[in-house]
Amino acid sequence: MTAYKLLINGELTDGAQTMDVVNPATEQTLAVCPRADEAQLNEAVAAAKAAFAGWSETPIEERKAVVAKIADVIEANGAELAQLLTSEQGKPIADATGEVYGTAAFFRYFTSLDLPVETIDDNEGRLVEAHRKPLGVVGAIVPWNFPMILMAFKVPPALIAGNTVVLKPSPTTPLTSLRLGELIKDIVPAGVVNIVTDANDLGAPLTAHPDIRKVSFTGSTATGSKVMAGAAGLLKRITLELGGNDAGVVLDDVDPKTVAPALFQSAFQNSGQVCIAMKRLYVHESIYDEMVDELSTLANEAVIGDGLEQGTTHGPLQNKMQYERVVELLNDAAENGSIAAGGEVPEQPGYFIRPTIVRDVAEGSRIVDEEQFGPVLPVIKYSEEADVIGRANGTDYGLGGSVWSSNLDRAYAVADKMEAGTIWINKHAELDPSIPFGGAKQSGLGAELGQDGLKEFTQLKIINMARAS
Ligand code: NAD
Repeated sequence: MTAYKLLINGELTDGAQTMDVVNPATEQTLAVCPRADEAQLNEAVAAAKAAFAGWSETPIEERKAVVAKIADVIEANGAELAQLLTSEQGKPIADATGEVYGTAAFFRYFTSLDLPVETIDDNEGRLVEAHRKPLGVVGAIVPWNFPMILMAFKVPPALIAGNTVVLKPSPTTPLTSLRLGELIKDIVPAGVVNIVTDANDLGAPLTAHPDIRKVSFTGSTATGSKVMAGAAGLLKRITLELGGNDAGVVLDDVDPKTVAPALFQSAFQNSGQVCIAMKRLYVHESIYDEMVDELSTLANEAVIGDGLEQGTTHGPLQNKMQYERVVELLNDAAENGSIAAGGEVPEQPGYFIRPTIVRDVAEGSRIVDEEQFGPVLPVIKYSEEADVIGRANGTDYGLGGSVWSSNLDRAYAVADKMEAGTIWINKHAELDPSIPFGGAKQSGLGAELGQDGLKEFTQLKIINMARAS
């Protein structure tokens, strides 16, 4: 078995304790990995603080070269990382491979950005410039659904902006991050990137640590709110990417057979464990039955199983807690709607739930009102366009949403009225490192990706110089 280690101050280090990591497809122990204690977290923060002076003064081109080398090493070890990702997370190997190479591409994308000094005013009287300065030590906290690519929303922009990092992956998916630590140990100067793993107990002290200047957090809205409270005492900068309950709105002019595959993929990719998965689907009454049938056919064709096995299209839920929650929501859905396809929870090891289509369901039931974060899609009937927009917006979440129509003007008009950080038209959940991504309402604060995502790791500093004496 591989010996996983923390990365603290450039050294691979044992944890104060160990913990088991479970393969969600088998429920067997996959590996034993380190569990850091608070003293080790403090060492990691101290190392990052000590490294900050040198790293922030390293020319940006050199910082970019280090980030590019991380991309290279991820790619060079892509097959191994993908296998490990499937084993700890559960997703099919093709998806894991896409995530790993996507991670490398996101690292590389950020090397194309710059933080130039902007001249705001330049005349005989004054010179006014906007500079972007690094913040210091960044705490990067990542969930279990996309352990690698979500890390790549944070680490490369933080580094390019001149910050140092303490990365904390989720306790149930720590292995890919730890393996990455081993791979980058000799690429990144000591202390610039530190990786600690915990049993869900170090997020709070990391957030509150006096030497952490910014917390970049991806996870649930409930935990995000704790991060905001924990950061408040010292007025730390925070970026929060939180939960969602994305609505897809299908207008009456689409052909169900044509759009059903894309709708299905948006809802069931990664077994529905995607922050921007389509989590509620509103379909016009004139095409409702046909759409439910098309989606049901796709659900019935899905092959659930171990992501390492050829032919698996949908892996297990990532962990027991999430599995039990989705089973509970599924039972509620069966009571408050009717199951058109799926609904089975196989009696076998592994946290498997078949992709499930729920019909004749509406607001007021848990499967519609709550973020299911699993492979159960409620399909909701509507008759009036004006009414459906209000229903789609009737949630405290506001991460993403989509409109589907064969008339782009009609779709655009609906998209304009939907309340979310991103609205897609005739697609859903497309992410691109060059496009800023962030949540409205209780789905988040700030943005990641793109130039905006890079700026979030900086402090705006104005220099305002009088020219005339
Ligand atoms: P979670 O909030 O339980 O955990 C996320 C991370 O926070 C983990 O690393 C965890 O150890 C850590 N943590 C736990 N307690 C903490 C505390 N008090 N302070 C700081 N950190 C703490 O989320 P999860 O269950 O791992 O992930 C699923 C959720 O994440 C879903 O709601 C999903 O929508 C959301 N998510 C959002 C995005 C986005 O970009 N908006 C992306 C992926 C997932």
